[in-house]
Amino acid sequence: MADIIQLLPDHVANQIAAGEVVQRPASVVKELMENAIDANATSIKLLVKDGGKALIQVIDNGKGMSGTDARLSFERHATSKITKAEDLFQLTTKGFRGEALASIAAIAHVGMKTKQDHEELGTAITIEGSKVISQDTVVTPTGTSIAVKHLFFNIPARRNFLKSRTVEMRHVNDEFQRVALAHPEISFVLHHNDSELFNLPASNYRQRIVNLLGAKTNEKLVPVEESTEVLAISGFAVKPEFAKKSRGEQFFFINQRYIRSPYLNHAVNAAFEGLLKEGTHPSFFLNLTVDPQTVDINIHPTKTEVKFEDEQTLYAILRAAVKHSLGQFSITPALDFEMSQSFDTPYNYKDKVVGSPKVEVDPSFNPFKDDYQSGSRTNITTSKAQSLKTQSTSWESLYIGLNDTNSLEQGTALEIESKASNETLFEDQSIEGHTKTYQFRKKYIITSVSEGLLVIDQNRAHQRIMYETFLKHITVQNGVSQQLLFPLQLNYSNTEISLLAEVQPDLEASGFVFTKFEGDNLEITGIPAAVLESEVSMILDQIIADLNNEIPEHSFSQADMLAKSMAKVLSIKSGKVLNSQEQEHLVNSLFACKETMLSPFNKPTFITLTHDELERKFM
Ligand code: ADP
Ligand code: MG
Repeated sequence: MADIIQLLPDHVANQIAAGEVVQRPASVVKELMENAIDANATSIKLLVKDGGKALIQVIDNGKGMSGTDARLSFERHATSKITKAEDLFQLTTKGFRGEALASIAAIAHVGMKTKQDHEELGTAITIEGSKVISQDTVVTPTGTSIAVKHLFFNIPARRNFLKSRTVEMRHVNDEFQRVALAHPEISFVLHHNDSELFNLPASNYRQRIVNLLGAKTNEKLVPVEESTEVLAISGFAVKPEFAKKSRGEQFFFINQRYIRSPYLNHAVNAAFEGLLKEGTHPSFFLNLTVDPQTVDINIHPTKTEVKFEDEQTLYAILRAAVKHSLGQFSITPALDFEMSQSFDTPYNYKDKVVGSPKVEVDPSFNPFKDDYQSGSRTNITTSKAQSLKTQSTSWESLYIGLNDTNSLEQGTALEIESKASNETLFEDQSIEGHTKTYQFRKKYIITSVSEGLLVIDQNRAHQRIMYETFLKHITVQNGVSQQLLFPLQLNYSNTEISLLAEVQPDLEASGFVFTKFEGDNLEITGIPAAVLESEVSMILDQIIADLNNEIPEHSFSQADMLAKSMAKVLSIKSGKVLNSQEQEHLVNSLFACKETMLSPFNKPTFITLTHDELERKFM
């Protein structure tokens, strides 16, 4: 039989390699920016159109390339960064594989202009799908500019796999942030379509973080410094009271390279132990410097995972350093999170006249009345509507959606009628005055129906109720809004604001009224009737966290996601004592839902123990 093995032609090999290097526009951004840094640029500009689908351009003022190098740089395994295998263990550059430009040129239209400082004229090259279209001598400033268009033009399957512009832009943004955080000494600019998202001057590390994440960040940072023989640490941790629901702001850099390391993450988490509110994650920006010989960054094609020689020592040093900083900078021990909720909301009463504090007395308040009154719902009242709300018991949130009339704004106390409670659900045991429901372990509501016994998970049931209510409000656009007496000022980072902007119309449909939605500042003058002012930042944090986490999944509608986030935050949790009226209403509201069996997160809301099953157990 004839020989059948052949060497793949270069353009095919390049396309295959491209699959590993370039997953999406953000991968191109990473490679091009890293090349610019390796070329000793002090100023790097990133221009992006349509989330990178239409254009990714990186312009640097680095050392540039000669005409020959410019042409060679697009060959596979063409690199100026290593010459022998041993160099791999002494890496001081980001790149070393010599694959990036070849891969990108294999699957896109690339235009490069480059000039070295001592040259009069530079070189311009155009390449499409590995084919050199042109090479000319041109007038161009010192440095390199590379424009990548029509990404995946020759691989429709990959092109179709790309997410929406917004999602791709989010990845680009993440990549930009990582590089910018690793190199505060370099100035960076990011443009998307026609707007400038970031303009970061060369600065110190603290300023870089603040410029990226918003002015309010400054006061939240605690420096972390440690220097040992094997490892130097420098950077910042965010005070535990500002911990976020998302893991979005956790950054490790090893020798100025962004890395992911669940193991090191664990070390930082351990340092925060006992200081964090449940469900929140610490934020940190930590630069680790180690001898390049002790770390292998070569185990992952996109190079964010690393292997260390002596992991345990790194773990111990890192944990101790972070713990020490938190202790030294007087982080309050064991915070009472329930009580301090209103303090960690960065309300900004700018322009407000300072007066003597008013004391509001609630004559109907009885501390012994009910367990739930001292629960997690804060009683700080900031508007008339809200004070009415809190006075007229705190459980009417259970009823939103069933009572859509906006009695709050007319200044009358909410009157709740449990309309559905006479319905057939409880038919078989309507012996007057008898409890029809029973709460078990502050978690389940047990009730009997004609078929047998129902055990309802109170949290999941309420999630379902809230979810359907909000979804209805958002999609039918009839969310009832309560006006705030004082506008609420909230600060978020640019990135967080742009995340929220994705769902702004839906937020408005659900009852939010925004008067400012820009930079790192949100001003809110109205909120959904079912929401307390003190819950607003919690809800927005949750939405940001969910939008962040949603990236890898196929995204459903924004409205759906939003309703889920709100339901998650606002639903009553297990551990909450409910009186019999509340229990009953929860049950009725659940069975008034379109879907009763499942929570919005597809978990069962209740189980049934049928009469037969019961009988059998007694046989
Ligand atoms: P690697 O970075 O792994 O060496 P690349 O394919 O990213 O591989 O780049 C190939 C070579 O092209 C680099 O080694 C470098 O010599 C040159 N190069 C790429 N981008 C630039 C740039 N912005 N400025 C100067 N030289 C560059
Ligand atoms: Mg490179």
